Amino acid sequence: MAQFKTPLEIYKLLPQSNCRQCYLPSCLAFATAVLKGERQLADCPCLSAETAALGDGGSGARASMDRNMEEVSLRLQGEVAGIDLAARAPVVGGRMVGGRLAVTCLGKDFFIGVDGTVTSECHINPWVTVPLLRYVLGSTGVAPVGQWVSMRELADGQTWNPLFVQRCEAVLQRLADAQPHLFADLIGMFSGRQAPPVFDADIAIILAPLPKVPVLICYWRAEDDLGSRLGIFFDRTADRHLGVELLHTLGVGMVSMFARIGQQHG
Ligand code: SF4
Repeated sequence: MAQFKTPLEIYKLLPQSNCRQCYLPSCLAFATAVLKGERQLADCPCLSAETAALGDGGSGARASMDRNMEEVSLRLQGEVAGIDLAARAPVVGGRMVGGRLAVTCLGKDFFIGVDGTVTSECHINPWVTVPLLRYVLGSTGVAPVGQWVSMRELADGQTWNPLFVQRCEAVLQRLADAQPHLFADLIGMFSGRQAPPVFDADIAIILAPLPKVPVLICYWRAEDDLGSRLGIFFDRTADRHLGVELLHTLGVGMVSMFARIGQQHG
């Protein structure tokens, strides 16, 4: 493990793009946090594994990122506590149940209380609550228009697309390659539906991680010398409900859940 003495030594190792995927405002802020021991180098998703290992050998990075997301989730809960949930219900496609706002995500109900806390019968983690609370706070309420676009076609999507491809599309593609029944399972477990023929895909399904933010998952089987491909598409209105950063977070949360279920099913 390298012994850093100044933030500048760490800053020189970073991409210096200030992309904020570490949930800090800049690479310099991140370097300072690493020096103070508040973050680890591996928390920057843009670093190679080798560079990240200079800081902590990779251990604890995920836990640190989860902690960070927990903090964001708590802050958002505080913001939601001050709003009129009943007024937001029709905007976000939710409904009021016993004084709480019920929002259906992937076919499961999540309830948001007047104090901003989120409850559900499903496993709750900040990778789900952060996009959900931000959606409740900021969605414009516009209805999907049925035009599918890739992450890079959304506002600021070019910045997030490489990471989205790596963390969401590539992970789900490997899962689909290994598990032929994956898409039927996703439809059954998460209230999905088959999409009409689109983009010449062999399989196309639609899921709704948030009521007004549907996603289209297309899979093309391997053929001759060509490997399989998988794409995740958003309705072109998606960035009017969540910024691409949080659409990426939502995708990571969703795909991680699918991967966990895939592992459980062997
Ligand atoms: S994620 Fe990495 S490259 Fe992006 S701002 Fe943070 S430290 Fe800089």
